[in-house]
Amino acid sequence: MRQRLVAGNWKMFGSSARNQLLLEGLATQADSLRGVSCAVCVPFPYLPQARTVLSDSGIAWGAQNASQWPEGAYTGEVSVSMIAEFGCRYVIVGHSERRAMFHEDDQLVAAKAKAVLEQGMTPVVCVGESLQEREAGITQDVVSRQLDAVIAGIGMDGLDKSVLAYEPVWAIGTGKTATPDEAQAVHGFLRSTVSARDADVGGRLTMLYGGSVKAANAHALFGMDDIDGGLIGGASLKLDEFIAICKAAIA
Ligand code: PEP
Repeated sequence: MRQRLVAGNWKMFGSSARNQLLLEGLATQADSLRGVSCAVCVPFPYLPQARTVLSDSGIAWGAQNASQWPEGAYTGEVSVSMIAEFGCRYVIVGHSERRAMFHEDDQLVAAKAKAVLEQGMTPVVCVGESLQEREAGITQDVVSRQLDAVIAGIGMDGLDKSVLAYEPVWAIGTGKTATPDEAQAVHGFLRSTVSARDADVGGRLTMLYGGSVKAANAHALFGMDDIDGGLIGGASLKLDEFIAICKAAIA
């Protein structure tokens, strides 16, 4: 079912002391967030801290990446079963920073999404075009190639259990946000692409927008027909800002 969801992506920021303030602040205000699902995706070492503080708050937590392999001699990697041990609901896969800086291709992203599903967690699958691709007029080609690869890996059943995040690369961490109409155009395209394969799955797929969402622009973005909430980077590290963004997603 389409869900109103706001997920924070802390990226590689935080310390035990700073996280404690942020997590406790979220847990304290969780009652005011009934009506929207909220989550924070934290760096791996802080998963136990997120679990300790957020358990019973109604706010979920998750990871930002996972290995596609179940276990083995993969130094520095973290498996989905390890992540699942800490009560995570979500794992972000295919974030543009991982695609660009860690050379994750469409097939690897699909394999990671599959591994996350196999552990009973929800992959938040990111797609999005670069500025160059947008300017070349190939946004739809890029996001449909990324989406097709994920569907090839997890099938429509897997997509039905996933969350899709549209994150234009040019809007991530740049302060440049897609206008609500620009974001809606791609969300509408993605939903109709999914619906063409399976109308039921398309109708209930939760789709998040990500890219410099702030309290000031969240309401307009989340009010668009095919935008169900947001994947929030920088602004998720500021308690008041993140709470305000979550509230903007309450229908
Ligand atoms: C992100 O990291 O997924 C993101 C959307 O970042 P920001 O909100 O900072 O643009």
